[in-house]
Amino acid sequence: MQPTDRSVHARGGVITQANPERVTVRTRLPAGVISLSQLRGLGEIAERFGADQIHLTTRQTIEIPHLDPDRVEELARDLEANGTPIGAERHEVVNIVACPGTDRCKYSNVETIGLARELDQRFFGKDLPVKLRISIAGCPNCCNNALLSEIGIIGRIRPVRTPGLCTGCGTCVQYCREQAVTIKNGVCHLNEDKCSLCGMCIHSCPFSLIKEEDRHYLVLVGGMSGRHPSVGRELIRVETPEKVVGIVDQVIYWVYRKSRANRLLGEQLDELKFDELKEKIKNEFEDRAPQDP
Ligand code: SF4
Ligand code: SF4
Ligand code: SF4
Repeated sequence: MQPTDRSVHARGGVITQANPERVTVRTRLPAGVISLSQLRGLGEIAERFGADQIHLTTRQTIEIPHLDPDRVEELARDLEANGTPIGAERHEVVNIVACPGTDRCKYSNVETIGLARELDQRFFGKDLPVKLRISIAGCPNCCNNALLSEIGIIGRIRPVRTPGLCTGCGTCVQYCREQAVTIKNGVCHLNEDKCSLCGMCIHSCPFSLIKEEDRHYLVLVGGMSGRHPSVGRELIRVETPEKVVGIVDQVIYWVYRKSRANRLLGEQLDELKFDELKEKIKNEFEDRAPQDP
């Protein structure tokens, strides 16, 4: 009889349960998007391996719980063939999360799902000293906690009041959740200090007096959820998804070279000299205005 191959158990997506006789297997689903045939296939696989339920995780993946550890190798092959391979959970780049973005959400300022897939292809499962979560939100509403991830990416737009006859109707005021728009002397005023760059006021004006400018991705590093939640620090803002991918590449390399195990990335930012990383990234990736040299 062949000995049971346990190498697959070293993968982060195979999770020991409270009952050591059983394991849960987590899948890899960038942006939480799964085709109908893959979903059907996943159900059939779960049933074939004795599970009577699946579990949806907070990071947009699907888990199959209460599995026989001796059958995980066989299960891994079936999951791979289904296009929903074993995922990640340990000190590595785990499932890339994204909100629907411009694919579906009327508030989104940027495309998110294609970017999540690109990041997944390049970085998923990369071994690191710390767990690294990447979350992409199409706007500052941050429905998926992008602010609390090791790398958060948020789509933003700057509203600009253009010349024209403002009636002072106040529609834009009602749309703004930050009290950044006020009516003074019968016309609208934008307060940049309060504005979160969500862009919601831009489409509200019946006379199209508020235009968009500076559509960009804000990249943050070192957010933490869990016991001591904390918002990530702003690294840079850039205009293209290609630049976002290049920046994530550099951040992951920096984490790989410098971070220490057994602590969250957000707890070590000062020791790791985050400001030096920020300066380096700025020099390499900062968008230049057309008139800049
Ligand atoms: S974060 Fe913004 S763009 Fe994404 S789903 Fe929420 S409201 Fe829509
Ligand atoms: S972009 Fe958002 S926060 Fe800024 S003024 Fe418009 S609605 Fe308010
Ligand atoms: S919605 Fe347009 S017209 Fe009405 S107050 Fe705002 S800018 Fe002026």
